[in-house]
Amino acid sequence: LFQDRKLGIALVGLGSYSTNQLAPALQKTQHCRLAGIVTGTPSKAEAWKQKYNIPDKNIYNYQNFDRIADNPDIDVVYVVLPNNMHTEYVIRAARAGKHVICEKPLAITVKECQDMIDACKKANRQLAVGYRLHYEPFTLEMMRLGQQKVFGAVKFVEASDGFKAGDPNQWRLKKAMAGGGPLMDVGIYAVNGVRYVTGEEPISVTAQFGPKTNPQKFKEVEETMFWQFELPSGAVSNSTTSYSAGVERLYAAAENGWFELRPAFGYGPLKGNTSKGPIEQPIVTHQAVHMDGVCKTLLDGQKLPDHITGEEGLRDVRLLQAIYRAAETGRKIDL
Ligand code: NDP
Repeated sequence: LFQDRKLGIALVGLGSYSTNQLAPALQKTQHCRLAGIVTGTPSKAEAWKQKYNIPDKNIYNYQNFDRIADNPDIDVVYVVLPNNMHTEYVIRAARAGKHVICEKPLAITVKECQDMIDACKKANRQLAVGYRLHYEPFTLEMMRLGQQKVFGAVKFVEASDGFKAGDPNQWRLKKAMAGGGPLMDVGIYAVNGVRYVTGEEPISVTAQFGPKTNPQKFKEVEETMFWQFELPSGAVSNSTTSYSAGVERLYAAAENGWFELRPAFGYGPLKGNTSKGPIEQPIVTHQAVHMDGVCKTLLDGQKLPDHITGEEGLRDVRLLQAIYRAAETGRKIDL
């Protein structure tokens, strides 16, 4: 039966997210399966081959990756590399004729995002961004409550995401690889959250860098960042992101009540509350519903919904860049 077909996914970059989240999730998916891997580390190739029963012909490194074009087992390439490598591998995957899922942030600059979108368009392939929350039930409920004005118009959003970054040598602290600090890594969830709760695009931003309490560790990137958006309806938002302390909250105050997720952005289980009582939703594996959602659409031959495309990834990167500009200049930036 055609609908029993699973798309073959190849994961590119077998780091923490691929190993601990995506590969296990791919054991639970209905519309896709782990078909191949791309890694620069031969010992990982060997371990994954054993553990997930991946044939040698579906194992690539960064040099021979382009030969994936000739491999009918691979329908989708999922780029899970450090941020500065997303653009190159998305473009190479598109040129190889594959659909692509790319992790967040889509890229470091708007230009790179646009190049990736253009390459996929040119190859007539679809580009999805790794926004797992866009298929997650608590998040979908927050979108409904806000966008359908269930508690009246949203007036104020508090959206913050931060954690304590351990290893001082990780790529996340290197500007060239990460593009910035916690804003690029997890602040993006708060930016995206403001947009999906209000259903609006910010019209201006102000922002402030927090102090560096550990100047050595945060030599290249910010340690903490605060920012505020104004939205067309008159709603406003306030956000914090940090690599020094944990915060994870999406709170919306509307005309007739409030609703929130806390935690709001991690792997779950997420928890929600409103002024009328708790939000009740099923607990799911975010990565499984995300990959299944994307792959079901591809299998059906449909266009991906706008909110999960490369364009959606670009919108957030553009806002991240505006936040940095606002903090650097101390000025309100019109968007
Ligand atoms: P890791 O550092 O754990 O893994 C990155 C992997 O990329 C490495 O293990 C390595 O795999 C490969 N790689 C290739 N070149 C380099 C290099 N020069 N330096 C470091 N790694 C390299 O990162 P994560 O898995 O945590 O993050 C990867 C991407 O996924 C990021 O864009 C991140 O933002 C995103 N992410 C998204 C999450 C989500 O919830 N959506 C959660 C976590 C991360 P190999 O040895 O196989 O070559």
